Amino acid sequence: MADIHQLKGVGNASAALLEKLNIFTTDDLLFHLPRDYEDRSTIIPMNQLIVGRSYLLEGIVRSIDFPPGKRKSMAVLLQDDFGKVTLRFYHVYKALTDRAKAGNRLRIFGEVRVGARGLELYHPEIQLITEHTPLPKTQLTAIYPSTDGLTQPKLREYVKQALQQYSDNLPEILPKKFSNGFALKQALEYIHEPPVDANMLQLAQGSHPAQQRLIFEELVAHQISLLTRREYIRQISAPAFKPSKKFAKQLLESLPFKMTGAQKRVSKEIADDLKQNKPMLRLVQGDVGAGKTLVAGIAACHALEEGWQVALMAPTEILAEQHYLNFKKWFEPLGLNVSWLSGKQKGKAREKQEQIIKDGTANLIVGTHALFQDNVEFSKLGLVIIDEQHRFGVDQRLALRNKGVDSTTPHQLVMTATPIPRTLAMSAYGDLDTSVIDELPPGRTPIQTVTIPLDRREEVLQRIATNCAEGKQAYWVCTLVEQSETLDAQAAEATYQEIRERFPHLNIGLVHGKMKADEKQAVMQQFKDNELQLLIATTVIEVGVDVPNASIMVIENAERLGLSQLHQLRGRVGRGAKASFCALLYKAPLSQNGQERLRIMRETNDGFVIAEKDLEIRGPGELLGTKQTGDMGFRVAKLERDDHLLSQAHHVAGQILKDYPENVEPLLKRWLPEAPRYAFV
Ligand code: ADP
Ligand code: MG
Repeated sequence: MADIHQLKGVGNASAALLEKLNIFTTDDLLFHLPRDYEDRSTIIPMNQLIVGRSYLLEGIVRSIDFPPGKRKSMAVLLQDDFGKVTLRFYHVYKALTDRAKAGNRLRIFGEVRVGARGLELYHPEIQLITEHTPLPKTQLTAIYPSTDGLTQPKLREYVKQALQQYSDNLPEILPKKFSNGFALKQALEYIHEPPVDANMLQLAQGSHPAQQRLIFEELVAHQISLLTRREYIRQISAPAFKPSKKFAKQLLESLPFKMTGAQKRVSKEIADDLKQNKPMLRLVQGDVGAGKTLVAGIAACHALEEGWQVALMAPTEILAEQHYLNFKKWFEPLGLNVSWLSGKQKGKAREKQEQIIKDGTANLIVGTHALFQDNVEFSKLGLVIIDEQHRFGVDQRLALRNKGVDSTTPHQLVMTATPIPRTLAMSAYGDLDTSVIDELPPGRTPIQTVTIPLDRREEVLQRIATNCAEGKQAYWVCTLVEQSETLDAQAAEATYQEIRERFPHLNIGLVHGKMKADEKQAVMQQFKDNELQLLIATTVIEVGVDVPNASIMVIENAERLGLSQLHQLRGRVGRGAKASFCALLYKAPLSQNGQERLRIMRETNDGFVIAEKDLEIRGPGELLGTKQTGDMGFRVAKLERDDHLLSQAHHVAGQILKDYPENVEPLLKRWLPEAPRYAFV
């Protein structure tokens, strides 16, 4: 491996451009893979052209002229034995006029379009044919992801040098028996310079065996990093808790319902983890309304009963506040002290909270990510519960290990309402064990979902008003094109004003992300207490908000939201026994993709089905939040395409850790140079 400056033709300017693409060494260049290919191997007769495709053509220049028109251009008529095309140039430069002279023979490459003079090519690449010109290439031509100023021919030239001079010393890190018979060097050569008869379709899709060989190696590296992280945490000790006898029983007896079978099963899995003196790392997935909060509450009982603290963290103030009130209701009767910490608490109030967390007066602490901050010290933290995990970065979880007592680390329970397809869970949460609450509490009636174009908004509004006047409770969610809290807040304000003026007899509330925490909470409480019938909101109510009596949900501009987000929002209703109803208002006309997405929302209430579709349609970035997929940072793998390789990659990762430990570091260095390393003690 060498620095890119070692390559011929790479000066400071090119190096700076390469660095923009994260290419610093010849290895980086070798792993900078083409995004597409062109076939420039065969000269195509001019009577065989299809508009919209790119071709290599060769012919004689018959004439050159500068047709008048709004945009000045130069038109070159090129002819072969079978037909003719016009080459059109809007910028004329010397090298061009030198080559494009009547009688000269040119070889060109470009996309064929229909122009004023029939078939035309705009700014094709041109080459003057002399007796020394070599025959066309005998490989397919790679097209690379690039950046302004770095041309494809330059990039190709650099890659070629890297292949010729530096690919021999490329260490073969994936043990041979796992590499599908493809040596690394062979695979790279094939991908950068495929033979003419290579399967272009496969290559373009990334499904060629040579590509899959690299993708597999990357997935293995990724799994290794997750496994080592997990190993690292596992070797730290954690307090072991015996299953709660008293608190759990009292809590369950205080509730008006019984746990579902799924809640019981998952609670048992958690209790079994907590008995160990190794930190639990468990992800609980459950569709919206499956009753994850109670499972968290029971988990808390085990730690609390032995005198340890429990922290519960939620991604938004509204949700944290709701958990706080809920846990107060559940745990104060058991003689426990529930406290609250948010980023918005300042001064004395904040100091007081920090004090009771530190001296152990607070048993259960609910809050936002303020809980993670350095200055928050716990007296005896035994269990951390993170609700709606997908909003947090993977490595944030690790920050928690410093919050434990002495050398122990608290147990971690992570709950997510965005059902995560198994394959994605393996990548994003490969370091966690998973439990699924796959049963909804009894007596829920499925939500009926309809899609309605925005020009019937008035009709919807009238119907909602009538329903609210009859005592039903409804959410009206405003969203905008730009995902901006400020703009969303303005839209919600405007809608709030509008509806309030039109229906003065209704009790209407407003919540959005720009309001103060206590204002938000006051409104949510009024809605919960049924003092408000209609709540105008932004997507701040997306996760977790639980008002069982609310049975109507209207979402404006639903076509702009992702499926999982819509499912979350819709999950705010359908929580009680009342038949619930969700109207998705959209702006016509819908794109095909938009139609498809709204159709899925109409047809299913199953969060797992919806998540699979979302992954298919939008990729993992949208599903998990870009932050987290950024953390995943794949170079060649694409989860939505390569998920079939994951379980094998997981398996091979385990084998490499066990049987080829010397390969671990080089693999991680090649594929995850930026990721933190976890040392073992
Ligand atoms: P989520 O899984 O979306 O976080 P919640 O924990 O907010 O769901 O629970 C949704 C609603 O269902 C709450 O009102 C809760 O009190 C209720 N609930 C939870 N478990 C049960 C159960 N076993 N039987 C009936 N209702 C339940
Ligand atoms: Mg919840």
